[in-house]
Amino acid sequence: MRKTVIAGNWKMNKNLSEAAELVNGLKAELAGKTLNVGVIVCPPYVNIESVAKLAEGTEIKVGAQNMYFEESGAYTGEISADMLKSVGAEYVILGHSERRTIFGENDEVINKKMKKALEAGLKPIFCIGETLEEREGGTMKEVIAKQVKGGLSGISEQELSEIIVAYEPVWAIGTGVTASPDQAQEVHAYIRGMLKEMYSEVAADNMTIQYGGSVKPGNAKELLGMPDIDGALVGGACLKADSFAGIITAV
Ligand code: PEP
Repeated sequence: MRKTVIAGNWKMNKNLSEAAELVNGLKAELAGKTLNVGVIVCPPYVNIESVAKLAEGTEIKVGAQNMYFEESGAYTGEISADMLKSVGAEYVILGHSERRTIFGENDEVINKKMKKALEAGLKPIFCIGETLEEREGGTMKEVIAKQVKGGLSGISEQELSEIIVAYEPVWAIGTGVTASPDQAQEVHAYIRGMLKEMYSEVAADNMTIQYGGSVKPGNAKELLGMPDIDGALVGGACLKADSFAGIITAV
């Protein structure tokens, strides 16, 4: 059975003390509750270690928002998979649309990062999604297929089991516009169908496919009630402990 996982992408928000306040707030919100979902928080690099220490002994796991695909060396400003592991990260978001559009990451670069993360024992949260123009222009499935094939190129079925896929329609990220449960379900089922063709029925069935794009406590239950939606990647609504906890407990 696949697992439902709720992950929070803090993006470039929260300094050291704010990060501690947020994770402590989340711990307090979740204390004493039996969770049937996995919970991941992805703070900025500089706060990973402190957040991981504060989350020790709780259900909250920690991830990074990016990494570089080289082992070490003259790559000024970059962070390696090994460095992330050494400060307590277990997950890493790769291929987020902001990385693709603002920082020019393509499928090839994302694929190299996926491979490096897996080699280092980090679990990728692999993001894909179409823009509004692509959806309206009728190329949505082509775009998704290219991102899935490009990002997963050369990745084995065993490695796939360490990956979470996040479908994030670009037009729904940070806009307050959410894909309807039916719109999201259609793409999730399409992605799962691709994974079945590329790997196997078992691998596809076991895959956690999150939805991301303006998820809030008020719409989480309906979205996650769809058969192929297995969690959420949350941006804006994860920056307050009560709203992130509201999403976690809604499911
Ligand atoms: C995201 O950036 O991954 C995201 C889903 O953001 P938001 O929830 O703010 O739309």
